[in-house]
Amino acid sequence: MHFKKPQEILLLGPGPSPVHSRILEAMGQHTLGHLDPEFLDLMNQTTELLRYVFETENRITFPVSGTGSAGMEAALVNMLEPGEKAVVGVNGVFGQRMSDVASRCGAEVVEVEAPWGRPVEPEILEQALKKHPDVKLVGLVHAETSTGVLQPLDSLVEIIHNCGALVLVDAVTSLGGIPVEVDRRELDIVYSGNQKCLGAPPGLAPITFGDRALKYFGERKNKVQSWYLDLSFLIRYWGEERLYHHTAPVNMIYALYEALSIIKEEGLKDRFARHLLHSSALVNGLKGLGVETVVPEEYRLPSLTSVSIPDGIDDAEVRHRLRHEHLIEIGGGLGPFKGKVWRIGLMGNGSQRGNVERLLKSLAVTLNSLGHSCSSAEAISEADKVYR
Ligand SMILES: *Cc1c(COP(=O)(O)O)cnc(C)c1O
Repeated sequence: MHFKKPQEILLLGPGPSPVHSRILEAMGQHTLGHLDPEFLDLMNQTTELLRYVFETENRITFPVSGTGSAGMEAALVNMLEPGEKAVVGVNGVFGQRMSDVASRCGAEVVEVEAPWGRPVEPEILEQALKKHPDVKLVGLVHAETSTGVLQPLDSLVEIIHNCGALVLVDAVTSLGGIPVEVDRRELDIVYSGNQKCLGAPPGLAPITFGDRALKYFGERKNKVQSWYLDLSFLIRYWGEERLYHHTAPVNMIYALYEALSIIKEEGLKDRFARHLLHSSALVNGLKGLGVETVVPEEYRLPSLTSVSIPDGIDDAEVRHRLRHEHLIEIGGGLGPFKGKVWRIGLMGNGSQRGNVERLLKSLAVTLNSLGHSCSSAEAISEADKVYR
């Protein structure tokens, strides 16, 4: 039996985000060999575009084969050796995951926590670093997709630089939607994922390593535990040597190249402004429906908005109806937010006025049919205030 074409679902959850038809078309082209000269040329262009999006000159910038979590593993497994100490900011699922991965590297992990829905505070990080001056690396999640919190980086990075530790940043839900600015902020290791604000299908994890990170890497005493993610091999394939390590996911790299080209054509500044504009309109529109956001405005992510599920409304029923009656996907809550929060993503190509309005109308119909009375017209007019 031939592959059955899936329905087009409007992806407004925590990722994957809607994939532009140009990207799908690029992906469907003939597969080249992973050492073919034409493909090597495409690899060069892809790394050049990645440097543009990361805003870095870092030589070692390439996509890891695997999803965002593979980027997380690649960052940590190369930077941490057994017995070394790492501090990880934990205020949601992805900080927790980073802490777990760091401990699996054999590192001693110190968690600095913040409540779900709030960023990690500089004072708490400063205290932890005073108590543990021998920390090698501090890991932070820039955009915590499980809660919708944007972690302000500058104040924390200054504290980390002052104590000499490496700064590792998870930019999975920020890269391509919110400024990451690797070089300006002097971030040492940053990774992301294809399927959030970059707008490509899941399957690659762009990563970049600065000189300080590479210096530490060169001083390692132990082999990297993971053969697949060992940076010394990956550098030899993505660098000038082009030495085979594993077969690159060729068609995924076509997709990433096209996604990055679309970003370059739009320009980072306009793209960031677009993410901010449509998320503001969404938040206003939701207020018009009587639906409140979870995160205070100053820490709210433009790419992901978490909202409180109105009292008496069944979480799963609403998401089921949105999916089946309106062909829209939104996300449910995780951990302490399970059953209490919806997560609405406006990422990459999903961040558009038409999508905001379609969601507001569909949500109004669904909520009204379940007994939460609200006005679709009111929501649209509230959203319009932002567009005017
Ligand atoms: C989605 C996400 C990840 C994990 O990416 P996968 O592609 O699901 O492996 C890691 N960190 C953050 C902040 C994310 O949003």
